[in-house]
Amino acid sequence: MTDQTPAPDNALSAARAVLERAPLIDGHNDLPWVIRIDRAARGDVIAYDLKRVHERADTDIPRLREGMVGAQFFAAFQPTNAPHPARTALEQIDLIRRIEEAHPDVFWPARRAADYGLAKASGRIASFIAVEGGVGLENSLSPLRIWHAAGVRLMTLCHNESLDWVDSATDAPRNGGLNAFGRAVVGELNRLGIVIDLAHTSHDAMRRALDVTEAPVALSHSNAYSLCDHPRNAPDDVLKRLKANGGLVMATFVPGFVSQRLRDWLRRSRDASGKATLAPDPKAQLAELEAKHGEAPKASLGEVADHVVRLVETAGLDHVGIGSDYFGGASPVGLEDVSRFPHLFAELVRRGFSGRDLEKLSSKNMLRVLRRVEAVGASLRKTRTPAIGRIEDFPEP
Ligand SMILES: [Zn+2]
Repeated sequence: MTDQTPAPDNALSAARAVLERAPLIDGHNDLPWVIRIDRAARGDVIAYDLKRVHERADTDIPRLREGMVGAQFFAAFQPTNAPHPARTALEQIDLIRRIEEAHPDVFWPARRAADYGLAKASGRIASFIAVEGGVGLENSLSPLRIWHAAGVRLMTLCHNESLDWVDSATDAPRNGGLNAFGRAVVGELNRLGIVIDLAHTSHDAMRRALDVTEAPVALSHSNAYSLCDHPRNAPDDVLKRLKANGGLVMATFVPGFVSQRLRDWLRRSRDASGKATLAPDPKAQLAELEAKHGEAPKASLGEVADHVVRLVETAGLDHVGIGSDYFGGASPVGLEDVSRFPHLFAELVRRGFSGRDLEKLSSKNMLRVLRRVEAVGASLRKTRTPAIGRIEDFPEP
């Protein structure tokens, strides 16, 4: 063998074999928002043209194929403090449906767990719709049923800000985690058969939701707090409760939630610069800090693998998945775009995970959650009528 010939990467071939059998279910991708804010496309899916590689973004059809993605949860995101959240939620749900409609040969509109297998059998990618941020409810339960009718099968309760009924991980608590209306939201999601996603909620909100939910939950894009102490990550007591709940935590790639080194650097540099909070333009702020304090540490694929290992140690092998949160911004070295998933699985092969273990992480755990959430919903709908009303109808007892 000449030195120009790279050694065969057995780990990578093993990873690809796993993903061939069990293509990845990725718990979170913000492509719909990327298409909405793209200056040329402005929300027009056809103008954006997912068939070509978007070098400056991270998600398109050629790279989803290369990444061996079998199902994608696309986020219908609404910013908390922008006007018209209910309208924005509908527009983003519609945008995801337009992605499905524009590429029927690629995306399989997925509304049930069984659609994963049907998509795979027909060589397509199952497209699941997730709402990110309960602000689009505008404090009413009705939109939940309309979202469900439109195909939504997972809901992230809030984003970076606390709402009138649920506390965010990255904002001041106002509701002791989850108040009476928040508990009604959880109950109605259970009844409808929509997965409750506790990514972004405060640790207390996670605990309160686990107290009341009748179905498994997901943390669709969250890491282990014990490895990186960002409040977006899940504490050990919550991770341990996923066993009894039957739910799962999906390891995420957002550098600030991955790397404690980056987190410590940001903390030190911000202290030195006298700035405590994120500027409106994090990119510009990072550039400014780097000019003063030198280059920031970069999160890496290996550190994401560290989180997967820690999550498995804490929550159990049956309760972990992957939720990349590709959002068109920074990502760890080695995980630059959606084509890179096999490389993460190759690293997990090197860490000693068997093929069977990795099939659980790639898809089987999330499929079990989806099936169970569907079954719980079907049974609750036989005995329970729809929960109706607005937040004022749910005073704290
Ligand atoms: Zn998010």
